[in-house]
Amino acid sequence: MYCEWSADEIHIDKLEIFAHHGVYPEERREGQTFYVNAVLYLDIGEAGRSDDLEQTVDYGAVCHFVTDWMGNNTCSLLEAVACRLAEAILLKYKMLSGIDLEIVKPYAPVRLPFRGLSVRVRRSWHRAYVGVGSNVGDRHAHIKAAVEALRANPLVELRQISDMIVTKPYGGVQQEDFVNGVLELDTLLEPRQLLRLLQEIEKEEGRTRTIHWGPRTLDLDILFFDRLVTADRDLTIPHPDMENRRFVLEPLCNLAPYLRHPATGKTVSALLRELEPGESR
Ligand code: ATP
Ligand code: CA
Ligand code: CA
Repeated sequence: MYCEWSADEIHIDKLEIFAHHGVYPEERREGQTFYVNAVLYLDIGEAGRSDDLEQTVDYGAVCHFVTDWMGNNTCSLLEAVACRLAEAILLKYKMLSGIDLEIVKPYAPVRLPFRGLSVRVRRSWHRAYVGVGSNVGDRHAHIKAAVEALRANPLVELRQISDMIVTKPYGGVQQEDFVNGVLELDTLLEPRQLLRLLQEIEKEEGRTRTIHWGPRTLDLDILFFDRLVTADRDLTIPHPDMENRRFVLEPLCNLAPYLRHPATGKTVSALLRELEPGESR
């Protein structure tokens, strides 16, 4: 699971596995030897105090899991092996906050002398806050559908749902009142993948984009993603206008009042206090 401070590590070096990954048919048919190196990130403080295996991740079990996974799956690319296996390990061992995983193919068919050839990935759980809003049709049903869709996604762990509030529309367009709230979730998705998932869910609920800030069945905005600060054309995190929006800050404060905006350092509760009473510019 997501953990901001887990700096402890368990290392697995050169676990040897015979498996059938590769682009060439003979690689898939004959198989070959792979090595797996991994760094498992977790907080082992409790295990250190209690000396209890339950409080940590059993590295023997992880080695067997990796060996079985490598044997039971077949991929063309080392990239696919590394990405999928890293995800499978993080989903299976929830105590882990992240993993560095390297898949080495020492006998890759390159026909040139080389010492090692590998793909290495770093994957971890992320904590995201997502703003939800609806002002068309059965507003609560649209939001419930979004919650269910997120719950059904194996790469998302929904942690908390704020109180839902009814708010006046924002941005000057004449329209029905909104129901707004915030969701706290942990996810293995990267920001762009999360955005795509949220847009798919909006679409499922019949979202169309006609008037900017106009009526919508469902709006899902990424407010925070870890401590990421980014401003791309199609993805800005933290959400650019959140500090001006009571309908965002109020439910967010409900879940995480002491969370800090990564760019300004201000807590959510301070941002909410800074809005004039009744103001929702
Ligand atoms: P606002 O973003 O001001 O609340 P909106 O939610 O009505 O307005 P949309 O029409 O839902 O705007 O989205 C417009 C575009 O915003 C999306 O296509 C998406 O690429 C982009 N976008 C940028 N940053 C984010 C973010 N943090 N979360 C969601 N969408 C974002
Ligand atoms: Ca929005
Ligand atoms: Ca949006």
